[in-house]
Amino acid sequence: MTTDLPTTEEEWRIRLSPAEFRVLREAGTEAPWSGEYVSTKTAGVYDCRACGAQLYPSDTKFDSHCGWPSFDDAIPGAVTEIEDHSHGMVRTEIRCARCDSHLGHVFRGEGFTSKNTRHCVNSLSIRLTPAG
Ligand SMILES: [Zn+2]
Repeated sequence: MTTDLPTTEEEWRIRLSPAEFRVLREAGTEAPWSGEYVSTKTAGVYDCRACGAQLYPSDTKFDSHCGWPSFDDAIPGAVTEIEDHSHGMVRTEIRCARCDSHLGHVFRGEGFTSKNTRHCVNSLSIRLTPAG
């Protein structure tokens, strides 16, 4: 895990690729089905790609068929939720609690899993650390 976090957006821009910067620091959204983790089943933990904080155990990942990696729960305290009024909709944005980088949005009441929650996360926002 990275211990020294950037304090300015310019420092983030140097650390991240242009595509990662656009999603993580400018709340961009990668195109559906384009991300490297959409269909991944590998066991492990998904970390924040910006700061390395652990966010989602792989056993919370499920097939939502929405085109982005989907998780029905996060590690307690790892993710913060913010009401998002962009694009004429009211949604709930999710960010890394450690570095405040954008992850995606959370939706509830869709009935995908028993937890009834879908964290819809950009692959560019996370990095899988395989188990073992
Ligand atoms: Zn982070």
